[in-house]
Amino acid sequence: DILINQIAAGEVVERPASVVKELVENALDAGARRVDIDLEEGGVRLIRIRDDGLGIAADELPLAVSRHATSKIASLDDLEAVSTLGFRGEALPSIASVSRFSLASRREQDEHGTVLHVEGGKLGELAPKPHQRGTTVEVRELFYNVPARRKFLRAERTELGHIEEWLRSLALARPDVELRVSHNGRPTRRYKGGEDLDALERLGETLGEEFARQGLRVEHSGAGMRLHGWIAQPSYSRASADQQYVYVNGRSVRDRNIAHAVKMAYQDVLFHGRQPAYVLFLELDPTRVDVNVHPAKHEVRFRDSRLVHDFVYRTLQDALAETRA
Ligand code: ADP
Ligand code: MG
Repeated sequence: DILINQIAAGEVVERPASVVKELVENALDAGARRVDIDLEEGGVRLIRIRDDGLGIAADELPLAVSRHATSKIASLDDLEAVSTLGFRGEALPSIASVSRFSLASRREQDEHGTVLHVEGGKLGELAPKPHQRGTTVEVRELFYNVPARRKFLRAERTELGHIEEWLRSLALARPDVELRVSHNGRPTRRYKGGEDLDALERLGETLGEEFARQGLRVEHSGAGMRLHGWIAQPSYSRASADQQYVYVNGRSVRDRNIAHAVKMAYQDVLFHGRQPAYVLFLELDPTRVDVNVHPAKHEVRFRDSRLVHDFVYRTLQDALAETRA
């Protein structure tokens, strides 16, 4: 089983950033309002994610690190309409099989917290441990037992950059959640969150004030879909391919279909060669989109991609038409 988990880890866990992504998404699925992310050496030496979410019952800790034991999907119907970020029950067992791992948690009603250590996939005993409500996952020495994978890890800066980039895309989508990052013991980033934090304020925090000032607000519903967010005006000077964010039902995705629609709308008002910058959220009935395409879940498949393309294109064309006038 450890071997199977390590093989699965090959798909789920590419580098420290993929670990951070899986763990933070778990925290969000558990309803966390605040997530602390502590890193050492670009996450290779340590990734510690602490959340204030619902927590896990002590006797369910071993289950959480077992293969395909997800608490999020009860039936095939659920799989059709998955709304949580995770649903495969693969991340924790995979990560735990290629690291020195621990999972500590406490629910509101528990008298004390409990910790479970896992060493290269081998489960230890449950032990009591002081813990606030919520969950802490520690991942030390990623790939310590898989030298072939460890070899592919890049310099600390590079790995940290991947983590920060992913966190930025998350921060854009979840202004309601506070995110604190430290690296090698020093606080490096803080996205303050809160119910009343304006999405525009978060846009400024993540992509800069100029984008926040110059972004055209997009908001349109039709054909059972809603597209909202911002697209930078053609005059925005810092536009580049790495300021392109697309979310489908709250999930950050890379989708050629949508990217193409945006580009087409942009080209109507712009010189060739300039990159559009945008943060766009598409909401639609979950049964109209398949998120079960790739384990890392960057990709989605629309039941009717033509309709989506047209909707995005028309909406942005309208938004951008103002700048031409
Ligand atoms: P998935 O997210 O696909 O269900 P994971 O392997 O990521 O699978 O997690 C396994 C299970 O462990 C989850 O279904 C959830 O019940 C539990 N779990 C993991 N992380 C947390 C967390 N931070 N807070 C509460 N429960 C968690
Ligand atoms: Mg998960």
